[in-house]
Amino acid sequence: MRRLPRPGDIALMALLLLPLAVALPRLGGIGGPPELWLTWIGRVTGILGLALMLLAAAVSLRLRGFDRPFGGLVRLWKLHHWMGFGAFILAMVHVLALALAAVPASLDAAVATLFPSVSHGAVWLGWLSWLSMVIFLAPTFGFFGRLHYQRWKRLHLVSAAALLLGLGHALLLAGETWPWWLLGIAGLGAIVWRKLLSPRLAGLPYRVAAVEPLARGVVELVLEPEGRRMAHETGQFVYLSPLDESLSAGRSEEHPYTIASSPHDARLRIGIKDLGDASHALQSVTPGSRVLIEGPYGDFFQRHSPSRKPLWFGGGIGITPFVGGAREMAERGQGEETHLFYLANSPDRAYYQGELEEIAEQLESFTYTSHYYRDQGPLTEAFLRRHCPDYVEREIYICGPPGMNAHLQRLLTDQGIPASRIHSEVFDFL
Ligand SMILES: Cc1cc2nc3c(=O)[nH]c(=O)nc-3n(C[C@H](O)[C@H](O)[C@H](O)COP(=O)(O)OP(=O)(O)OC[C@H]3O[C@@H](n4cnc5c(N)ncnc54)[C@H](O)[C@@H]3O)c2cc1C
Repeated sequence: MRRLPRPGDIALMALLLLPLAVALPRLGGIGGPPELWLTWIGRVTGILGLALMLLAAAVSLRLRGFDRPFGGLVRLWKLHHWMGFGAFILAMVHVLALALAAVPASLDAAVATLFPSVSHGAVWLGWLSWLSMVIFLAPTFGFFGRLHYQRWKRLHLVSAAALLLGLGHALLLAGETWPWWLLGIAGLGAIVWRKLLSPRLAGLPYRVAAVEPLARGVVELVLEPEGRRMAHETGQFVYLSPLDESLSAGRSEEHPYTIASSPHDARLRIGIKDLGDASHALQSVTPGSRVLIEGPYGDFFQRHSPSRKPLWFGGGIGITPFVGGAREMAERGQGEETHLFYLANSPDRAYYQGELEEIAEQLESFTYTSHYYRDQGPLTEAFLRRHCPDYVEREIYICGPPGMNAHLQRLLTDQGIPASRIHSEVFDFL
C-alpha cells in the first residue's frame, strides 16, 4: 500500500481545481456578513461538486494502461466511488449554503432561492441533476437491501443524465465556460466509450477450449484466441463476457477474473468460483462457445521492489494470481526466491494444490506451504516464522477474502513490516 499520491491523483486534483481557479476572481473574497461567506461557500461547493462528478465519470474510462497512473483499476474504481459520493455531499452543501445565505433577508427569499419561478431554467436544471443523483445513489444506501451489482451498473445511465443536467446548470451560470466543456467532454466521453463503443470494440474473441473442474463449485476455463491473442503480465485480470446462448445467467455480462496462466501461454486460463448467478452459470459453460475478453488490467506484481524476495499469501479463489506467477516460474525453470502460503479452509478447498506442490518440487526457488483454517485456526506469527524465517524482510502480496486480508495486514504490520511493502488485492469492487 503506497501512501504517496500517484501521478494520476495529481492530474485529477489539478483538473478538479481548474473550474474553481478560473471562477475565483468572480466569486470575490470570503468574509463579511454571514450571507456573503455562505454564498461564497455555496458557489465553491457547487463548482467543486460538479467538477468531482464529471471527473468521477471520466475515471470510469476503461482503456488499457489508463489505470496505471492511478495504481491499477481496483484503486481507480475505489476513487470513482468516493468521488461520486463526495460530489453528492458537495451538491447538498451547495444547495443548503445558498438557501441559508438568503435567510437573513427573509424566509421567503430563502425559499425563492431554492425554488425560483420556472423561468430560472438554470436552477431547475440543477435540481433535476440533483434528483437524478438521488435516484442513482439510492440503491447504495443499506436501507434498500443488498445492492444488485448488475442492476446498479445499468442504473449508471441515470448518472449520465445527472451529468448532462449539471453541465447545463453550470454552462448557463458560469462566466467562463471552457473548463466545463473540457470536463464535460472528459466525463461524457468516458460514458459513451463504456456504454456504447467499448462493448463493440474492446473485447477480443476467445473460444472455450475446456472447462476443467478444480473442486465443487470451482472450474478452470481454458480459452483459446480466435484471432489476435492478448498479451498480459502475471497478476493482471480481464473482463470476461460469455456469449454462450445456453447459459442460465450472465450471458454477455462482463465480470472481472484474474488470469491464472503464464504470460507465455497462448491460451488463457481462468479459475472461476461460484459466487453468484453469473459465476454459477459459468461452471457449465459449453466448450466451443465464444467469450469476449477485455483487458488486461491491474498491476498487482508490478508494485514490487526487485531487491526483496517475494512472499505470497493466497486465500480461497484468491490463489489465482499466484498460480499464474508459479506457472510462469515453472515455464522458465527459474525465478526469484518465492514463498507461497495458501490459506484454505480445508484441503478440499485448496484449489490447484497438486499443481503448486509439483512446481515446488521442481523448482528450488519456489516454496509452497498450505495452512488450513478448519484444523489450525487463524494463521499465527509462529507458523509464519517456522516456515519462512525471513518473512519480515520480504515484499508481501496478499490476495483473498477481506477477513483474511485484514488479519494478515494486522499480523504483518504488528511485526514492524511497513505498509508500503504489503500489497493486497481483494476480489470486490464495491
Ligand atoms: C480484480 C478482480 C479479480 C477477480 N478475480 C477472480 C478470479 O480469478 N476468480 C473468481 O472466481 N472470481 C474473481 N473475482 C470475483 C468475480 O468477479 C465475482 O465473483 C463475479 O463478478 C461475481 O458475479 P456473479 O454474477 O456470479 O455474482 P453476484 O451475486 O452478481 O456478485 C457477487 C459479488 O461479486 C462482485 N461483483 C459482481 N459483478 C462484478 C463486476 N462486474 N465487477 C466487480 N465486482 C463484481 C460484487 O461485489 C458482488 O457483490 C475477481 C474480482 C475482481 C474485482
